[in-house]
Amino acid sequence: MTAPEPPPPENLPLPPEVDPWALEVSDLKQYAYCPRVVYYRYRFPDFRPETYKMTRGEAAHDRTRQRLRRRPPRGLPPGKAYHERLLYAPELRLVGRIDLLIETNDSLVVVDYKNARKARPNWKDQLAAYALLAETVLQKPVSEGYIYLIPLRRLEEVPLTGQRKAKIRKMITQIIAEIQQEHQPPPASRRSRCIDCEYRRFCNDLF
Ligand code: SF4
Repeated sequence: MTAPEPPPPENLPLPPEVDPWALEVSDLKQYAYCPRVVYYRYRFPDFRPETYKMTRGEAAHDRTRQRLRRRPPRGLPPGKAYHERLLYAPELRLVGRIDLLIETNDSLVVVDYKNARKARPNWKDQLAAYALLAETVLQKPVSEGYIYLIPLRRLEEVPLTGQRKAKIRKMITQIIAEIQQEHQPPPASRRSRCIDCEYRRFCNDLF
């Protein structure tokens, strides 16, 4: 029996019942920054205060994304471009929206936009999670991944190694286990990260 054809990228509906334990790719980025933020988010879903900084940051990001839809970064491989493509891989328990996905004849390229002048390590993990998601759902290898640094208008290539993808798989398992077992993870490695944190009041062992 031959394997069924994967659906074309443009028509990937999310199933009506997404696994309630599925994580978002942004959770993995956040987990690397502070594991507790992700834990609180899922353990206390009704509590999600928005700080002024978050609201302002999201509005600016939306405007930038609209601009990049019209004029994508230069220097990327040619292929069919999909903007803000939503993908869900139940087998990974992962869902995410990729800023830019390019499909060439035999591979995929993932691009994440960042309003920064330097790529942070946790953003590289986030890109690896997008790559894992894209190749799982679309059944094509991801050959390249880039972080696009918006203020510099520069693409930074990120090596999407097997080691990095294995780390993502492990992280997904660990996060879900912590939430299911109500095991509060350790706090952020640096207290400076707590200053603007919306969950500060939950960390009363620290303050
Ligand atoms: S206050 Fe600090 S340790 Fe607590 S969730 Fe926020 S960033 Fe993490």
